[in-house]
Amino acid sequence: MSLPQPRAGILEIKPYTVTAGSLHPVCLNANENPLGCSEKARAAYIAAQNQLHRYPDGGAVKLRTALAGLHGMDASRIVCGAGADELISIITRAYAGAGDEVVYSAHGFVMYRLYAKAAGATPVAAAERNLCADVDALLSSVTPKTKIMFIANPNNPTGSLLSAGELQYLRGKLPEHVLLVVDAAYAEYVEDKDYGDGRALVDATPNTVMLRTFSKAYGLAGLRLGWGYCPQEVADVLNRVRGPFNTSVAAQETGIAALADQDFVVKSRVFNIAEREALAASLQKAGLRVYPSAANFLLVDCGSHADEIREGLAARNILVTPTSGYGLPHCLRITVGLEDENTQLLSALKEI
Ligand SMILES: *Cc1c(COP(=O)(O)O)cnc(C)c1O
Repeated sequence: MSLPQPRAGILEIKPYTVTAGSLHPVCLNANENPLGCSEKARAAYIAAQNQLHRYPDGGAVKLRTALAGLHGMDASRIVCGAGADELISIITRAYAGAGDEVVYSAHGFVMYRLYAKAAGATPVAAAERNLCADVDALLSSVTPKTKIMFIANPNNPTGSLLSAGELQYLRGKLPEHVLLVVDAAYAEYVEDKDYGDGRALVDATPNTVMLRTFSKAYGLAGLRLGWGYCPQEVADVLNRVRGPFNTSVAAQETGIAALADQDFVVKSRVFNIAEREALAASLQKAGLRVYPSAANFLLVDCGSHADEIREGLAARNILVTPTSGYGLPHCLRITVGLEDENTQLLSALKEI
């Protein structure tokens, strides 16, 4: 007799961790919104307490209708999940398994690799150019076994961006059987006019999905709410694979209220751009190389001192994220915080 064993590949997964803080740390490690969330969303969350004994609407009809109204989409092609993260997992499980390949760019969001492994599929990393996804390298990584290609746009942790034109070129050259997933978790932060969140491709092709989240600009990371905009056939597949109640009553009610408060999203975008550029300039002045970012974090090249700097910051109660798991051991990912937090970061860096 032997003890239960997981499927091949599962034990090779290193669980995703976000460093736990000490007492009231300065959290610049999880790309959360330092402004918090909309007051209207908070009120809706509190009001949801009266429905705690009820199951949520498994179809999330009101939330999907609100999303469809805001974005001018067909609600039946929207699928909600417990964060975009759960949708990445559902998509991977639905479309890839043993013997299949899942392509992503070398410094792409780490969950693509982990969920591919969890599904028994083979993750395939395509080389990048200057820490930016390389469309041609992505295309040459495709084989008949490729089932899914994930692109985070903007990408975490590099902050780099592909234009709508590059995405369109990519989709045009990708074989039809490959599902292209554009993960636009930071879309609300982007102001570049050439940016493509993938939405146009979802409308124009039968094999592209766009993912979005309430965790970043909406400031609701703790709520666990994300959504995908899909071709009808893909939505039908995801609805079979997802749990029947994968978004809670509180998540649905709070999400609807957050969508109705676009002023908060605009405020978050404007604040983030100003603080990000100020922080980047100060870091550069301090002699560090900072990569251009379209999101709410900066990738900072710390040379051979990345670990030392991260530990020094942690000792001063400031948390940032190591990017060695992304193949960038010389870098740190630093979330743009409040003005005061960014100032604390800069003076701590000077000490270190
Ligand atoms: C933060 C993030 C997500 C997912 O966030 P959820 O909290 O699960 O919605 C997805 N993709 C990227 C690239 C991210 O950075």
